[in-house]
Amino acid sequence: MDDRALYQTILGLQTPWHVERVELRTDPQEVDVWVEAVSGTAFACPKCGAASPIYDHVERRWRHLDTCQFRTLLCAKIPRVSCATHGVTTVVVPWAEAGSRFTLLFERLAIAWLREATPTAVGRRLGLSWDEARGIMERAVRRGLARRQPVVVPYLGIDEKSFLKRHQYVSVVVDLNARRILHVADDRKATSLTGYFTTLTESQRDGISAIAMDMWEPYRNTIRAHVPDADRKIVFDKFHVLQHVGAAVDHVRKQEHRALMAEGDTRLTRTKYAWLKNPANFTVKAWREFAALRNSTLQSARAWAMKESLRRLWDYTYVGAARTFFRAWYGWAMRSRLAPMKAVARMLKAHLENILTYLTHRITNAVTEGLNAKIQWIKYSARGYRNRDAFKMAIYFHCGGLDLEPRLS
Ligand SMILES: [Zn+2]
Repeated sequence: MDDRALYQTILGLQTPWHVERVELRTDPQEVDVWVEAVSGTAFACPKCGAASPIYDHVERRWRHLDTCQFRTLLCAKIPRVSCATHGVTTVVVPWAEAGSRFTLLFERLAIAWLREATPTAVGRRLGLSWDEARGIMERAVRRGLARRQPVVVPYLGIDEKSFLKRHQYVSVVVDLNARRILHVADDRKATSLTGYFTTLTESQRDGISAIAMDMWEPYRNTIRAHVPDADRKIVFDKFHVLQHVGAAVDHVRKQEHRALMAEGDTRLTRTKYAWLKNPANFTVKAWREFAALRNSTLQSARAWAMKESLRRLWDYTYVGAARTFFRAWYGWAMRSRLAPMKAVARMLKAHLENILTYLTHRITNAVTEGLNAKIQWIKYSARGYRNRDAFKMAIYFHCGGLDLEPRLS
């Protein structure tokens, strides 16, 4: 087998395309594989498929998979055809997508690597610039989004993610069952989600069974505007609710700590996380050490007991029983004389109906929090994602569950 036949096989070229010549350079180590179409081949307009005469040829190069550490470039003079309707256009070649400077096989390899490592690291190993690596990711995301089918997603989660600078946000819509991010929107305003819901077909909108989210009015308003019967479907996420209660406990602790310190009492020093932690996550030893504090008459201990007792709300089977439980809990909080606990209790009371919808749908945003770990990785592993659009693109790439690879033709 000569080198031309070898490359013909490696590249999987089919008629009319064949390898014309192979040029090898040893410094730098590069191979140029020249490909051409059999002379006399008729080409069609890529836009309408009409057989069209060749207008001229343009020389193009595509980076291909290396052969034995030799950077391999596929080179060809590509015909441009003159279509009666569409004018002069470049024909589509079977080994690369229009506009790409990489062959399909190379893009597939790069995408496989980019799934595992940062664009910087992949770029270093594959000899790609940052912009080239990002271009491959962008094309992959566009491809993946275009291939998505309008399937019904019954359980959605909506959450916000901050990026780079604090107080800059994107909103994400998550498919809770498939654990993938469906939509990334700027900011966390009411309009942020409009862009998602307006793309849905009627049956997709009707097919939404429930949506987990934080108690965030702008999101709720948009959902109400777009999802039929939204009030029975919105579930204020259990973990967010407990986070709000945790913040109130922390508030109580801080105030009390300050007062105790004024009298030289250091009991609450360095105890912040013990009060916030889920008891299930304590070690036996730490739990025993925490006993003196949690069983004390401190205000922090009372606030903590309220927080821990509230967890039971989500264990109920019947809404009526849960409502009775909450009424008792609410009374306890209101009698506590702890301002932060009273404030959070009022907040929960105002939102109670959509907290109790959990008992019907049993969904939380825990999946979203899991995807969050991946988003953190994106944030800190790729310092190049300095702007929002690049950050959003990387979220789709890594968390979108998209079909990213170009198909081999
Ligand atoms: Zn045409």
